[in-house]
Amino acid sequence: MGKNILFFGPNGSGKGTQGAIVQKKFDIPHIESGAIFREHIGGGTELGLKAKVYIDKGDLVPDDITIPMMVARLQKDDCKNGWILDGFPRSKDQAVTLAETLKKEGLALDYVIEIVLDREIAKERIMGRRLCVNDNNHPNHIAFDAIKPVEKDGKLVCRVCGGELKTRADDQDENAISKRHGIYYDETTGTMAAVNYFKQADGVKVISVDGSVSIGDVTDAIMKEL
Ligand code: AMP
Repeated sequence: MGKNILFFGPNGSGKGTQGAIVQKKFDIPHIESGAIFREHIGGGTELGLKAKVYIDKGDLVPDDITIPMMVARLQKDDCKNGWILDGFPRSKDQAVTLAETLKKEGLALDYVIEIVLDREIAKERIMGRRLCVNDNNHPNHIAFDAIKPVEKDGKLVCRVCGGELKTRADDQDENAISKRHGIYYDETTGTMAAVNYFKQADGVKVISVDGSVSIGDVTDAIMKEL
């Protein structure tokens, strides 16, 4: 039987890396709202063009674009045996809409996984991360020995596949980072409000782990509870 999992953590907490590991364990899709937006932007779609304006500033893409996109994703065939949602819901409003959608479809949540990390540490981590052009889930970070990119012909390349590395524009802009974290840590209407909302959902198992330790230790802490 598959699992339905919500994955929370501030930008820079290692959520993408850990999500990819949990995905392998259950063989379910790892659905990242930010990555779906970036695919649209890369493909030059109308949705991508609309979303880019908000993403570049670190603002939330409006719900009338985001929610239908995510609900449609959850209705795809590969979600029949479960899914990991990462980056959505990101606000209390999105949480309430998602809860209503799940109820309508007769779906229940199995786990809420939360990586807890201090805002300052999260910021340092964001600025040092590098994205592999071949695979978003190849972890590369200039400040962590375990996932440091490797040097090839005087250039830093992906430690997993040797691919070219890129940074995200919104990762190098302190203003955008600050806005994204402002949204995340907001317990009234922001992502923390969504986390707290789902922590109280019936029958859900909540796994809260400390994100300040090594990648392997965070993985162990999560796997122990799954
Ligand atoms: P991420 O890759 O999760 O850091 O997301 C990158 C950007 O995509 C965010 O800063 C937002 O602009 C946008 N985004 C991602 N997920 C959502 C969401 N659930 N609601 C609104 N905007 C989102």
